[in-house]
Amino acid sequence: MKKAFNAISRDEYNQLNKNFPDEEWVCKTCRYINNTWLVNTGYVCGSSDIKYKKGFCKNCRDIQAREAKEKEDELIMVNQKLKSEKLLAESGLAERIIRVNSDKMITPENKSYIWYKRIMSEIEEVRDRPEGNRWFYIYGQNSTGKTYLMENTVKRLVYKGIPVLYINENRFFDKIKDSWESKEIRESDIYKMFEKANVIFWDEFMFYNYTKAEWKYERLYKILDYLTESNKTVVFCSNVRVEHDKYFALVETKELMNRVGLRPLSRLKRNNLFVVNLDNDPFF
Ligand SMILES: [Zn+2]
Repeated sequence: MKKAFNAISRDEYNQLNKNFPDEEWVCKTCRYINNTWLVNTGYVCGSSDIKYKKGFCKNCRDIQAREAKEKEDELIMVNQKLKSEKLLAESGLAERIIRVNSDKMITPENKSYIWYKRIMSEIEEVRDRPEGNRWFYIYGQNSTGKTYLMENTVKRLVYKGIPVLYINENRFFDKIKDSWESKEIRESDIYKMFEKANVIFWDEFMFYNYTKAEWKYERLYKILDYLTESNKTVVFCSNVRVEHDKYFALVETKELMNRVGLRPLSRLKRNNLFVVNLDNDPFF
């Protein structure tokens, strides 16, 4: 016959629970010396004379917790890596740039570092900005490091889990033109890529003179208007020099107006275009 569970009184059980033995015991697995004890349920049921049994080993428990944590961290890292790989693949960056080792990325010794930091902080705090977005205009002659700055900022943002889109103006408009005769891709499909990204990097901006190409002008305005309304951050990169005031804010000039046109210019101004001059950098 089964013995009753309450072979000892509740009082005695409570007493046992308060007065664990002082004795220490050695863990068979790790040789750690423990003083943890448990009330022996066999004793409680009346099937044993041994009141206490050895409890958990503190050291083994720590090891288990550590291993579980490591496993979890590893899983998070794998997921983050997968996420950034996916974001990178969707970023529009060229394969060769994606493959570049990340230790070649911008470091404090690099000339562009201060701008990298500035752009990153603007992008990260932009969501709560009541006065609107801040867009960037990076310009410099060839080999001033603007493409390098841009590519590496794209990668850093992606590693932070921020969806980014990189486009090259020249190739972008070629793609639009191609879509007119394509059966696989419609022009409207091309614009969809802007939706997913929070930050757009627009390389070779003003490669075209927009006031001389009406179809490009219309599309440029439409895109800039969409990016403004949807609160995206845009970083333009160009070798067309623009003027800025002492706060690095864009100054409207006749040349700029002639090149980009009135309505796109109004969008650039509305987004507080911040000019980064790599040719004549006041910090270096
Ligand atoms: Zn142990």
